[in-house]
Amino acid sequence: MTSYRVAATVAAAIVAALLGWAGVARAGGPLAIQDDGTPYLWSTATPIAYRTDQGPLSAAVNETQARARVISAFSVWQDVPTSSIRYERAGFINPTGAFTGGDVDTILEFDAVVASCEAGLQSPIIYDADGSIFAALGFDQESIIGFAGPCAVNATEIVRGMAMMNGRFQDGQGVDLPAAAFDAALIHELGHFSGLDHSQINLACLFGPCGSDLDGLPTMFPLLLDVAQGSLATDDIAWISRLYPETAAAPTFTGTHGTITGIVYFRDGESHVQFANVVARRVNEGGNEDRRIVASVISGYKFRMFHGNPITNPAPSMGSEHPGDIGLFEIPVPAGDYIIEIESIWQQFTGGSSVGPGFIIPLTSSAPPAGPVHVAAGATVSVDLVLNHSPPRFDSFETP
Ligand SMILES: [Zn+2]
Repeated sequence: MTSYRVAATVAAAIVAALLGWAGVARAGGPLAIQDDGTPYLWSTATPIAYRTDQGPLSAAVNETQARARVISAFSVWQDVPTSSIRYERAGFINPTGAFTGGDVDTILEFDAVVASCEAGLQSPIIYDADGSIFAALGFDQESIIGFAGPCAVNATEIVRGMAMMNGRFQDGQGVDLPAAAFDAALIHELGHFSGLDHSQINLACLFGPCGSDLDGLPTMFPLLLDVAQGSLATDDIAWISRLYPETAAAPTFTGTHGTITGIVYFRDGESHVQFANVVARRVNEGGNEDRRIVASVISGYKFRMFHGNPITNPAPSMGSEHPGDIGLFEIPVPAGDYIIEIESIWQQFTGGSSVGPGFIIPLTSSAPPAGPVHVAAGATVSVDLVLNHSPPRFDSFETP
């Protein structure tokens, strides 16, 4: 596949925003976590109903063309054979409040539609044909391609989501992207819509041509680096399948994938390390397989970052407070033999580009890769990693 690398200003471009969600726990894997550590997920009892903007995507892409591209982008996720997630277009975005129907093309209309999403009324896919709504939201309309995420949950499930796409990148002038690259961004946003967070894999692709690393570069990598991200990578497929497993028709998730789990520890072998990027690389076949068949998660991806207190943060943040979750990782992988590595989250993956619960603590030392471990389909294999050279703890006599 020909390689397309977006300009540096555009590289900082794909943003996940959870509108109206304060303090949400985010993860390499699922995007939102309940208090007990389980992810918020859409129900798969029926297809997820979404609604599309009745206006054009841009001056160069009309509504009919845009609608076809949205349906096609959803189908990329729906067509994962080991996942049961399904989507269905329910029509155009319903009028609500200041939005009286038609094209969502002002900030007031956008706000009204998002409010209806947060109220659990509809799941809109919105096009900003000229970037003016992005600008009104305070985004750089020439660097942000889109944002998306769940916007309403009930006790256990995502009930509505939204996505917003910037037509400035498809109007044939200025900061424009090839259609396939824009569609890769659209597929990425619909991954967020579906409840997926970013994944950091094959980071070298961020800094230059990356050869076979491109095949393992996730669609859910925080930035749009290459049109190849329009095809799902091993990590994307593994995570959408773990969150929404196909259990009935072959190939099922448990018939094809297993799980690698464990704890990342400091050198004492006792204290958990949160925010390490844990990467599993398959090594059955040699060659470049370890660059292509790769999946990852952040240690502590379930763990709550902020603890509520009645003065400064009365609202409970999302995520588990279980101490055993601090350094915990769980990675779904296709069956095979794996080496497990850890690395720091890249320091610039912050804000809308964050990976995991939203905080970065650079690792001051590494751990020897673990494995290879054999992961059979349907099996869970435990592997712990212990940092070399981490400073000794001074709290040995303190109670947790
Ligand atoms: Zn994103």
